[in-house]
Amino acid sequence: MIVRVLGSAAGGGVPQWNCACAHCDAARAGRAPRRSSSGFAISGDGDRWWLVNVSPDIAQQIEAFPPLQPRSGRGTPIAGMLLTDANVDHVGGFAVLRQAGDHAFTVYSSDVIREIALTQPAYAPFAREPHTWQTIPLDESVALDARLEARAVPVEGLTPGYAGRQAIAGAVVAYHVRDRETGTSALFAPVFADVTPALVAAAEDADVAFFDGSFWSDEELGDVGVEKAARSLGHLPVGGEDGSLAAFGRLQRRSERYFAHVNNTNPLLDATSAPAHAMVDAGFALAEDGLELHL
Ligand SMILES: [Zn+2]
Ligand SMILES: [Zn+2]
Repeated sequence: MIVRVLGSAAGGGVPQWNCACAHCDAARAGRAPRRSSSGFAISGDGDRWWLVNVSPDIAQQIEAFPPLQPRSGRGTPIAGMLLTDANVDHVGGFAVLRQAGDHAFTVYSSDVIREIALTQPAYAPFAREPHTWQTIPLDESVALDARLEARAVPVEGLTPGYAGRQAIAGAVVAYHVRDRETGTSALFAPVFADVTPALVAAAEDADVAFFDGSFWSDEELGDVGVEKAARSLGHLPVGGEDGSLAAFGRLQRRSERYFAHVNNTNPLLDATSAPAHAMVDAGFALAEDGLELHL
């Protein structure tokens, strides 16, 4: 299977349009890579593609990756999407893809995510007809096509801010996608509020894993004047004794591990920072826009 990181940042990207922090400045000046909003593309055969989340940056992400571009006339090689949650930066791209016409995407999610996403007034009209929504029950698998199957891995998480930030089962999921021809698999867990045994087991079972790298610490949004804690937004910080790096550092299998969905406040964006060194020492890397893996 082929995995392409379409976007490696949390909502807002790096640089974020209204932010002049050191990380955003470095990206603007070309001293650090630019990052668009989180999303992945996966394919078994390189011909037919699935998106994991569909960000508002999806049009530029398609333009940056020829396999996702139309082959002739109007059309798309994108068969559909898997949604990890209903946050605007993961579902808002439906409004960008509104010219799909009669091309029907197959959209997979939990029933909770579907219900929230399809009632959000800004993009729900473009996420409905002619697209078909399929629920993957937690812990169950579906065949996406002849090669790929996806299992919905339950993770801890909150509904989006516009839906009340409620901690309910199915508000956030991860996907373990397996290529039945090669036996290889990848885990996509760009959002989670805690490291649970189910998430650890899925990571142990994957050749490549992408984890929620939104925030290094609970307080870092305070540095740019936003008084919200990472945990209150449904993201487990990477750093700290009870952060995800410490939890995943105990993983047995040496799979390729990446932090994705990185917020522009995260010190991991500065490769010279102590957190970045700690991450690398633990065997992790930062995902970057355009990273492509062939499993
Ligand atoms: Zn996000
Ligand atoms: Zn910034």
